[in-house]
Amino acid sequence: MKIIHLCLTNRCNFLCQHCYLDAGKKLDELHKEEIEKVIIESKELGATHVHFFGGEPFLRTDLEEICKFCHENNLTFDIATNAYNIDSKKVIWLKEFRAYLDINLLGPKDFHDRMTGVNGAFKKAFKAIKLLIKHKIGFEVVTCIMKNNIDLWLPLAENLVSIGVNRFFLTYFSKIGRGKKRYDLFCTGRDLERLEKIIQTFQKKYPKTIVTFEKCLVRPDLLQKDKKTKLSPCLFFNKKYGFLDCNGDVYPCFLLLRNKRFKLGNIHKSSFKKIWLKWTVEQLQKKRKISKHCFACKYYKYCLGGCPAYAQNKQNLDYRCILDNYIPFCPVKC
Ligand code: SF4
Ligand code: SF4
Repeated sequence: MKIIHLCLTNRCNFLCQHCYLDAGKKLDELHKEEIEKVIIESKELGATHVHFFGGEPFLRTDLEEICKFCHENNLTFDIATNAYNIDSKKVIWLKEFRAYLDINLLGPKDFHDRMTGVNGAFKKAFKAIKLLIKHKIGFEVVTCIMKNNIDLWLPLAENLVSIGVNRFFLTYFSKIGRGKKRYDLFCTGRDLERLEKIIQTFQKKYPKTIVTFEKCLVRPDLLQKDKKTKLSPCLFFNKKYGFLDCNGDVYPCFLLLRNKRFKLGNIHKSSFKKIWLKWTVEQLQKKRKISKHCFACKYYKYCLGGCPAYAQNKQNLDYRCILDNYIPFCPVKC
């Protein structure tokens, strides 16, 4: 294992329209001691990094102690957050324990506040970013790319560059969780090609910035010609990333969280280490229902049938493949 991804809570102070976990209300949560045990077992399995996510991890009052535990055990860590609760007190321990933060921002002020359902969300995140810059704490700004914010990313990024931000990470909208109700936010391959051009223009203008954008929809005619693009079929096949839900359920991927068919076990019934060592890629492949369209498709050897989390429909076909003429690859970079 390389990285353990830990969902610390389902609680959230925001109500983002596209949230793939449908976060908000409190679900069962692991105690600090249980989380620490999983961290140690992950280290024994080879993990060197911990990714904390939620819900909103800063709603846990013991977050500081959990981060301290990682630091004392020589594990690097990052926290995915809406940054609403980051203040000058928290910045002290974030710096001490060498935290790295992934700050979620969806677009300029009005758009961000509307999509998150919280007035003042943008203002608070902006203030937190300035604090992180002042205290030299590493971070990047993460934007979930949707149909309605592709053209808003550039003004957002330019605004952030003007205050000293230089790292950006783009993820994709998933029609999962609350996103199920927002089918209209799906980005086609053509939308993502447009985004790629926007990013190229941005990077020419600001060559010192780093923008991470993983291509996940590719035109069939470019599949073999485009040798530079690294395309990943489903990453659970490499068994390098572990995922633990806030109630102790273990999964092979973010997007499969709370999908009972792919649950590997629960740490209240068996140790995390035992669960992780027991599962095999072959077992998971059997659980995966490959669409009859994929069996007959000449691109199967490239995409391996796309993302299983996106194939929860009657045809068992990755919904991007139904909606688009592009070959679908893994939409996340763990
Ligand atoms: S293809 Fe889907 S299920 Fe597989 S690793 Fe990527 S996001 Fe997860
Ligand atoms: S997901 Fe689409 S492109 Fe990939 S094998 Fe299945 S039908 Fe073909």
